[in-house]
Amino acid sequence: MTFKALVVEKTEDGTSASVQDMELDRLPEAEVTVAVEYSTVNYKDGLCIGPGGGLVRKYPHIPGIDFSGTVEASDDPRYSPGDKVVLTGWRVGEAHWGGYSQKARVRADWLVPLPEGLTTRQAMAVGTAGFTSMLAVQALEDHGFKAGPVLVTGAAGGVGSVAVALLAAMGKQVAAVTGRPEQEAYLRDLGATQIVPRAELAETVKRPLESETWGGCVDAVGGAMLARVLGQMEYGASVAAVGLAGGAALPATVIPFLLRGVNLLGIDSVMQPYENRVRAWARIAELLPMEKLEEMVVPATLEDLPRLGADILKGQVRGRVVVDLN
Ligand code: NDP
Repeated sequence: MTFKALVVEKTEDGTSASVQDMELDRLPEAEVTVAVEYSTVNYKDGLCIGPGGGLVRKYPHIPGIDFSGTVEASDDPRYSPGDKVVLTGWRVGEAHWGGYSQKARVRADWLVPLPEGLTTRQAMAVGTAGFTSMLAVQALEDHGFKAGPVLVTGAAGGVGSVAVALLAAMGKQVAAVTGRPEQEAYLRDLGATQIVPRAELAETVKRPLESETWGGCVDAVGGAMLARVLGQMEYGASVAAVGLAGGAALPATVIPFLLRGVNLLGIDSVMQPYENRVRAWARIAELLPMEKLEEMVVPATLEDLPRLGADILKGQVRGRVVVDLN
């Protein structure tokens, strides 16, 4: 029996990605075989569909860092055929074959049961990006929001869109930073109460402290923007550092930490322990308005992935791509 997958192969001048028929015995050894129903496109997927950015070590490779589906076979007592499951992280789609495939074989430890109240499609509309937004929002909550609006950078992207919707659902004032003014209506619809043009925060730090403006921040951008934002946080407020869409360097000073007690909280979704994953997914199912989630969805198929992978690396994808593997 064959199934379809997006296979990335090494070529003389880089890599090439194409949809191919595969056989089950080519899947890696692991305890649980899943009939994948949906996957999605994250920034890392863009890297892995293309030449890899150092993430993929072995070719041919099947990318897809997250997926949802139904268990088909399991050697682990925690999962039985018919169970609905979700996978994010654990370097699946990078070091291990991933979700751009109608079948995937993975370790039982990497799966979580599909959260109650979500369909497999909704789970991938959330995907790694949305799951990470929830981790970021929980980290801010654990450290306490201050009074001002909560800033979300890279707001029209996957992490940003879900963060805006989650924070709005919690009753927060949300300031959305975007470089795409044409996405203002979309962001306001998700719950943003203020739009901040990217250019306003793009300049490097001139003064280490500016006026205290933001009561919290989910940052998907990093780089000069994060450095700038640190100096604008309210006394004792926290920034959850999620991404590096604007660069990995942090040209900042330590002054906001020392004089304003600002907290910089690192958010990693890949190696999160099982209990935290279950907690975050349950919270997503409870908090995220499903009609807002649907507004973020861009439907796609395996054939669309080479184009979408390139688009996400250029910051041109809006919201959440949902790849239908059925
Ligand atoms: P997207 O490409 O969907 O979103 C990124 C957004 O950042 C873009 O839509 C754009 O938003 C903004 N942006 C892009 N380029 C720049 C730039 N040069 N300067 C300023 N803003 C820019 O990606 P995701 O939302 O999926 O991921 C966002 C980041 O989070 C990535 O770096 C990703 O690797 C990281 N990430 C980290 C995880 C973790 O575990 N820590 C998990 C998941 C993602 P706009 O057009 O609105 O300005």
